[in-house]
Amino acid sequence: MISLSGRTALVTGASRGIGRAIAESLVASGARVAIADLDLATAEKTAAEIGESRGFACDVSDPTAVTMLIQTVEDSFGSLDILVNNAGITRDNLMARMKDEDWDAVMAVNLRSAFVAIRAAQRGMMKRRWGRIINIASVVGIMGNKGQANYAASKAGLIALTKTAAKELASRNILVNAIAPGFIQTAMTEKLSDEARAALAAQIPLARLGEPKDIANAVAFLASDMASYITGQVLVVDGGMVM
Ligand code: NAP
Repeated sequence: MISLSGRTALVTGASRGIGRAIAESLVASGARVAIADLDLATAEKTAAEIGESRGFACDVSDPTAVTMLIQTVEDSFGSLDILVNNAGITRDNLMARMKDEDWDAVMAVNLRSAFVAIRAAQRGMMKRRWGRIINIASVVGIMGNKGQANYAASKAGLIALTKTAAKELASRNILVNAIAPGFIQTAMTEKLSDEARAALAAQIPLARLGEPKDIANAVAFLASDMASYITGQVLVVDGGMVM
């Protein structure tokens, strides 16, 4: 049984999709959770619906805002034990047509934000000699994907950041892992046509798209004491697509 009783957590991009499911799962396991999202009212509404959580506004593409968020959560909860870097965006296009702004926007939200959050959160975790950092990457960070040079590179970068942070922080009992979701049913994948969805499912041995709770369950496990000998790993949660 996973118990996060007494732990505090922060999930970025937690108002919907995978982030919301992660927040729900951490609360269900006993943690108090900070729900961060672009819009304060949405974050607060989500927190009220989930319970045992508080909403915070933060645009993770702004390094100052991310650093302040970590401080605010620590002041508000007394500590930050579990950091989940989940907020992410896509700006897809073939490389020939991809604009510099689309490259920069994806890197800022998906990759730089995680670096800044880890840099800010590690201090308190070091003092307390306990921490869990979980970065939500993607299978395309392992495989690459046509039309997603920016997104795939950001997720590959997140995987390298995970391994580096794991090495730097292991001596202080701060464990850092990544989860690489496959195709999960959220707003991000809703744009797919029924045909594209069926074609995708055909490549997945478990023959279905994943659900946000498939990722959330893996996060709760990695955040718990059941995973205390696991660090620097990429847990692929994709119905067997990449193996
Ligand atoms: P989603 O439904 O589009 O939700 C993304 C969340 O991130 C939203 O809550 C969004 O806030 C928030 N967000 C976007 N830009 C932000 C910013 N600048 N600052 C703060 N929050 C921001 O996406 P999802 O499918 O749940 O994806 C969650 C994570 O899983 C992402 O990192 C994504 O790359 C990864 N992932 C998803 C899949 C998949 O198949 N869905 C596969 C692999 C990896 P608003 O609601 O305010 O826009």
